[in-house]
Amino acid sequence: MQVYNSISRRLEELEPLEPGHVRIYTCGPTVYDYAHIGNLRTFMFEDLLRRTLKHLGYRVTQVMNLTDVDDKTIRASREAGLPLQQYTQRFKDAFFEDLATLNIESAEHYPAATDHLPAMIKLVETLVTKEYAYVTDDGCVYFSIDKCETYGRLVTLNPESMRPGERVDHDEYEKDGVADFALWKAWKEEDGDVGWDSPWGRGRPGWHIECSAMSMQYLGETFDLHTGGVDNRFPHHEDEIAQSECATGKPFVRYWMHSNFLVVENKKMSKSLGNFYTLRDLLDKDYSPRAIRYLLLSAHYRQQLNFTLAGLEQAQATLDRIDEFMGRCEAAAADAPGTPPHWAESGRRAFDEALKHDLNIPEALAAIFTIIHTGNAAFDDRSLDGAGAAGVRGVMREMDAVLGFMAHENDVAGPDIEKLVAQRQAAREAKDWAESDRMRDEIVALGWSVKDTPHGAELRKQR
Ligand code: AMP
Ligand code: ZN
Repeated sequence: MQVYNSISRRLEELEPLEPGHVRIYTCGPTVYDYAHIGNLRTFMFEDLLRRTLKHLGYRVTQVMNLTDVDDKTIRASREAGLPLQQYTQRFKDAFFEDLATLNIESAEHYPAATDHLPAMIKLVETLVTKEYAYVTDDGCVYFSIDKCETYGRLVTLNPESMRPGERVDHDEYEKDGVADFALWKAWKEEDGDVGWDSPWGRGRPGWHIECSAMSMQYLGETFDLHTGGVDNRFPHHEDEIAQSECATGKPFVRYWMHSNFLVVENKKMSKSLGNFYTLRDLLDKDYSPRAIRYLLLSAHYRQQLNFTLAGLEQAQATLDRIDEFMGRCEAAAADAPGTPPHWAESGRRAFDEALKHDLNIPEALAAIFTIIHTGNAAFDDRSLDGAGAAGVRGVMREMDAVLGFMAHENDVAGPDIEKLVAQRQAAREAKDWAESDRMRDEIVALGWSVKDTPHGAELRKQR
């Protein structure tokens, strides 16, 4: 498989250190709020990556951390008047719910930063001992950027903007403010009861050291692949490389992959513009999780994804077309596993080739639509027999192991749901709104949503 490596800035053949086994670290959510759809786009890219690797026969060990202590979580928990752990737990739970809703496969490990303080302290100690880091009088530890000759590999830095010896305390800063960054932050009043004992006194880790420590603890000092959104490239990933390589004297990561941003109606998503969505916001508007998954997945990960509500409607229409085709295959398929016709085989090959080429999902989807187009024509002229239909269904299901958005048996409404829908319809016709609302609540409680359209009520499975 070929991937675009952000550090070499070119496509490279992915060759894991251990043949057949890819070790991946993904920067996970900062659990200070619900994930927004931009975050989810990045997690979706990582899901596509792991599913593709598995589809191609690799074993995958993926670690996704939970940032449950940093500047943002401390500030937010303080504003909420809650202890940090209690505050972040709510958003950890919400994050796992979102992953399940979007059918994102679980990583092998989800280490939380607050469970890994000893590894972080040890790493900082190593950097101090090797004199890549220094301790200030107030008990902070900073990484000395001028000691690291290779600093600035992932992003191009302007030497004039480098200010070694000056210090930056915040976890996030811009490229024009490159200075010695905090590995360990001494306890301050506003940290409240957040703090751990260390050789430098009470304090807490900087955000960057968290990911260096956790990734190396689970995946080794050198591992294959590290991912995140483009905004993670600087300073987060640049600092991770510097700290890790200076501490171990070994290469840290062999391939870096970064997904581009999601924008809404071509604008940066922000609360002030009113174009900021969490997954829950969209579910409340009755969009189906499958349509959201489809839309978040449908653009190449290195392209910006322009998210629009009209795009979601289109995604749903596309899924309806795919469902309809799968329904035709289902109805025609023989019981025994069939032989796919040659056009389905070549569609499968095109699909695999597209994904092997740096996860070219638009081309992979095009391969599916070609199968559907050819398949529908074959059904129309009755040239596809039961064995062929079963074969096509098999190919589609294999592809869905990567895509994860096709309907499954439990996505088809059973007679109990259909009956409730009919009762609701009758109540509406009788203008008995209370009864109609009661029916809707029952339908929702069974995991479905119902939306009234000009063509009647539409049912959707909430998954
Ligand atoms: P955070 O919870 O802020 O640590 O971010 C989690 C992940 O979401 C990181 O990999 C970020 O790079 C990514 N991310 C943040 N904003 C966006 C966005 N608008 N579009 C795509 N990815 C994003
Ligand atoms: Zn990280």
